Amino acid sequence: MKKNEIQIIYGKDPYDMAFKLMESCDLASMIGDRDRKIGLKPNLITSSTADHGAVTHPEIVVAVIEYLQDHGFRNIRIIESSWVGDNTRRAFAVNGYNEISAKYNVPLVDVKTDAYDRITIDGITMEISKQAIDLDFLINLPVLKGHCQTLMTCALKNMKGLLSDRSKRQFHSLGLHKPIATLNKAVRQDFIIVDSLNGDLDFEEGGTPVYSYRMFAGSDPLLMDCYCATQIGFSPDEIGYIRYSRQLGVGEGDLSKLSTIELNEAICIPSRSTGRAKSLERYVKEDSACSACYANLINALARMDENGDLRSLSGRDICIGQGYRGKSLHCIGIGNCTGLFDENVPGCPPSATAIREKLESLI
Ligand code: SF4
Repeated sequence: MKKNEIQIIYGKDPYDMAFKLMESCDLASMIGDRDRKIGLKPNLITSSTADHGAVTHPEIVVAVIEYLQDHGFRNIRIIESSWVGDNTRRAFAVNGYNEISAKYNVPLVDVKTDAYDRITIDGITMEISKQAIDLDFLINLPVLKGHCQTLMTCALKNMKGLLSDRSKRQFHSLGLHKPIATLNKAVRQDFIIVDSLNGDLDFEEGGTPVYSYRMFAGSDPLLMDCYCATQIGFSPDEIGYIRYSRQLGVGEGDLSKLSTIELNEAICIPSRSTGRAKSLERYVKEDSACSACYANLINALARMDENGDLRSLSGRDICIGQGYRGKSLHCIGIGNCTGLFDENVPGCPPSATAIREKLESLI
């Protein structure tokens, strides 16, 4: 695949979606030599299951292992550490990684018990898992979700699980953004599958999943995070570690260079929002909306709520869904299905940032 490319797939089956993305991207050719040492880096921040919106669906890990082994790659390991205060072994166990490891003969590396290389980038010294440094090819499997300190987390921030706990604490004391950029200068990731099936609205620990039922694949973590920021309602410029990563030349930070390929069309699965996501639905009139479209709207409303802008929209109807096709209403319409409305955000689906910008322009 081209470096400036992101491939997108919609669906409910994480195994099938991941497999199709790898085939479409021709991951085997990207890796090359069958003897190369390959690491998989999921997000296992806590000992919760993927339905909570915090950790990578384990079916994606299984799909990657089966794809790699089908193509003759045998030197594979899974590398991760939970955040400070949680136990990686427990997170592995809760998500079935012990069984995956045994079935496919793929070792689990708990970074908390690994040896470390000390690397200094731009004045920040960090301890990085030796086994991660020794890899020939790193496949990053982050979850796209909100984050209480950095606003979002995806490909760039997921690399923090390759650090010792001491360095994780140090990163927090330094405000996270610049250290995350330096970490990504120190460790290269070669292929990324973003789990955006049901990432959390605003908290890295999960609890408020938003069901967008999609996945993205690419090879440039900075470009991926710039794109993913727009899928949950942020401008890339709002994310500090994206700005620092641009300065350090971690990857391509200009979204105008991005080329996207959709492998299928967005799907429609009835919403099952909870908590804060549910409360945001009072602004929405939905009729057969695709999940990604609906999730982008909920994320856009959340960002406006966080900025105190949402109350100004009270009394305005925001309509979304295929049921509005061909209708001409004096409302705000989201997506191409509502293209005949007085006010419309074009796109199929439109990004959360495009929705947010349009709604903000109307208050
Ligand atoms: S614009 Fe319509 S068809 Fe397109 S994603 Fe949104 S709801 Fe689905």
